[in-house]
Amino acid sequence: MRLLLVEDDVMIGAGVRAGLRQDGYVVDWVHDGVAAEAALDTEQGYALVLLDLGLPRKDGLALLESLRRRRNRVPVLVITARDAVNDRVRGLDLGADDYLVKPFELHELAARIRAVLRRHAGRAEPLVEFGEFRLDPSARKVFYQGRAVSVSGREFSLLQALLDRPGQTLSRAQLEERLYGWGEEIASNAVEVHVHNLRRKLGERAIRTVRGFGYVIGEAEAACRSGASSS
Ligand code: CA
Repeated sequence: MRLLLVEDDVMIGAGVRAGLRQDGYVVDWVHDGVAAEAALDTEQGYALVLLDLGLPRKDGLALLESLRRRRNRVPVLVITARDAVNDRVRGLDLGADDYLVKPFELHELAARIRAVLRRHAGRAEPLVEFGEFRLDPSARKVFYQGRAVSVSGREFSLLQALLDRPGQTLSRAQLEERLYGWGEEIASNAVEVHVHNLRRKLGERAIRTVRGFGYVIGEAEAACRSGASSS
């Protein structure tokens, strides 16, 4: 899963990015509000934004306000200073999903991210269950047809993206956006390779190809199914 980290403090930013990478997230890091806005305008693949409020060029609250005014629904987790109660309240009222007070522990940040993502996907329960799949995002484990299956970090992210909205077909480009960050080399067939490897581990039918559209888990919704056959 791909996150946007907006933080001007180099020490905090580097620590957070390293910690989240270890948890399997892809992290793009910008250091001011204008760069954050540009990233959010051009990239569709972010699962969540981690937003510091005190930022150069455009502060976090102004960024959040303009984001929500433009109907951008990406989940936002605000990071604030201990004494900034009013900013936290204002952030929540402007459309932030949760906040965390500095200094914080990385495992608390990771748990809050999972909680926000869960709510955003409309789930209350910690496991992602659909059909024969069961995903445990905190342990990054996959179970299929009752057995544990060992997958790579990107394979896990790919499954997570498809299981987030079962029945919704995601194109190769949409999957690439969710799996890779800035500056990462992506082979032109990277997504196909991940899908191929997952089918090898899970069985051919686990992930369906919707010809001309992309990939889906479960029954493709009608809009994507017309005129397309699956394999
Ligand atoms: Ca700051």
